[in-house]
Amino acid sequence: MPATALEQIVSLAKRRGFVFPSSAVYGGLGSTWDYGPLGVELKNNVKRAWWRSVVYDRDDMEGLDAAILMNRLVWKYSGHEKTFADPMTDCRSCKSRPRADHVFQEQKGRDPKGLDEINAAIAAKELKCPKCGATDLTEARPFNLMFRTTVGAVDTGDDSGLAYLRPETAQGIFVNFGNVLDTMRRKLPFGVAQIGKAFRNEITPGNFTFRTREFEQMEIEYFVRPGEDEAAHQAWIDARTQWYVDLGMRRENLRQREQAKEELAHYAKRCVDLEYKFPMGWSELEGIANRTDYDLKAHSRSPENPDAVGELKYFDQEQKKHIVPYVIEPSAGADRATLAFLCDAYDESLVKEPPAEEVTKLRELVQSFAKSVDKKDPKAFEPEAKRRLIAAAENIAAGLPGTLPDLLALSDDADANRIEVFKKVRGVSEKLGEEFTRTVLRLHPRLAPITVAVFPLKKNEPRLVELARGVKRDLQAAGLRAVYDDTGAIGKLYRRQDELGTPFCITVDFQSLEDKTVTVRDRDTMAQERVGVGELGGALRGKVG
Ligand code: ATP
Repeated sequence: MPATALEQIVSLAKRRGFVFPSSAVYGGLGSTWDYGPLGVELKNNVKRAWWRSVVYDRDDMEGLDAAILMNRLVWKYSGHEKTFADPMTDCRSCKSRPRADHVFQEQKGRDPKGLDEINAAIAAKELKCPKCGATDLTEARPFNLMFRTTVGAVDTGDDSGLAYLRPETAQGIFVNFGNVLDTMRRKLPFGVAQIGKAFRNEITPGNFTFRTREFEQMEIEYFVRPGEDEAAHQAWIDARTQWYVDLGMRRENLRQREQAKEELAHYAKRCVDLEYKFPMGWSELEGIANRTDYDLKAHSRSPENPDAVGELKYFDQEQKKHIVPYVIEPSAGADRATLAFLCDAYDESLVKEPPAEEVTKLRELVQSFAKSVDKKDPKAFEPEAKRRLIAAAENIAAGLPGTLPDLLALSDDADANRIEVFKKVRGVSEKLGEEFTRTVLRLHPRLAPITVAVFPLKKNEPRLVELARGVKRDLQAAGLRAVYDDTGAIGKLYRRQDELGTPFCITVDFQSLEDKTVTVRDRDTMAQERVGVGELGGALRGKVG
């Protein structure tokens, strides 16, 4: 059963060391997350797979790692100082500050044509505050999303040291266009790929790592002759879609959405968003835009830009003249891709039916939990949270034991944990979950944080331990991420590795001492086969690909 709620992913991510709330010892910092020991491996693997696919597997790409801090003029001439803003409105009634374009989109079922249309709808009281329902919204105003900082030891207060934390990595590529062209002697078409942090002071971050203020982008700027742009654009849309599928993402959870004319950024000729069916609904994973020659021209010396030192252009040998290439930009988020792979890989199922009397006891507990929520004073407990918890409890109670995974996902819900009886619900469900459910992350072997885990059948048998540790060392030396573990019985260790997404587990037993073979267990088929220690590295490398 795939994850039905993002909470299931959040809960597993916290429990198993993928992602932790940032600065938790001081109460956290809203919508900021730290990647834990497993998460950093997964995200690194996503980035590595992307780099391999867009740089190493092609002959027309180079890599780059530009600085986060750049001359402020980059952001002036890119247009970000003026236009990189979200329209915000304030609710006079409940004092919340929602994004006006989102309110419009949700309530009218389509994107607004611009700020004027949003404000006309607000003035006509056609839009409601999504929090309290009041129609008392202020005129929407643009709010710049760039984080400001000061370069230099002294803040003179006059903006002379003003710099921004880059809101996208793309501009670092545009301003290096000439450097890459000159040093790498490239001919069109060619592209530059870059992975790096970007920062946006998002008004409404949320949905776990989907939208945060600090995130990582994986961006490509692919330069082509004007006229060859449309075919190159389509080729990138297809290639990028296939990348997710090749790494195991289910095709039915992925779709291409053509941006409507009125949605397009002012520089874009066409843009297709790759969307993933996250538990909270279809949402953007990557945007693939045809940015025409807008950016290279914007950073070239001209009457509009007297600050640039020169022109960003290309000498076309065939036409014997300088041209400004068009740019195709596949722009992906490393965090969003990681989250999407996690969601897609998540599989929780009941392995056997728990005894009927235990199910009845749990159902009664869940029902009494729903009653306790219902009785809570609305002043002390948000009505929205009450509605959500009661609906969840009723669904779970009706579907037990099949809904046990949903109940386990509620364990981390802060509102649920404010209800006394929930402690009992948790105790019983966790005990049943431990015994009767199996969570598996069916991650592609190339993405899995750990490729292979090695266990000795008995940890108090030095010869088994020594051989198992040796197998682990050899596999690591063969370039596979391998771990050694002897902290539990083999069945328990398998379960734990299933939850982390480890595709292969190896058990070293007494037969291994005699014939130097070990048992390799496959996470997905659960099939076990004996493989000679000498062949392990090659066999597993072949499966990882
Ligand atoms: P959205 O509409 O979701 O705000 P966007 O269209 O502004 O995204 P782009 O500027 O096209 O996003 O950025 C390219 C990619 O960077 C996005 O497809 C997404 O994967 C990632 N990204 C953008 N903003 C964020 C964010 N706040 N948190 C995490 N990833 C982000």
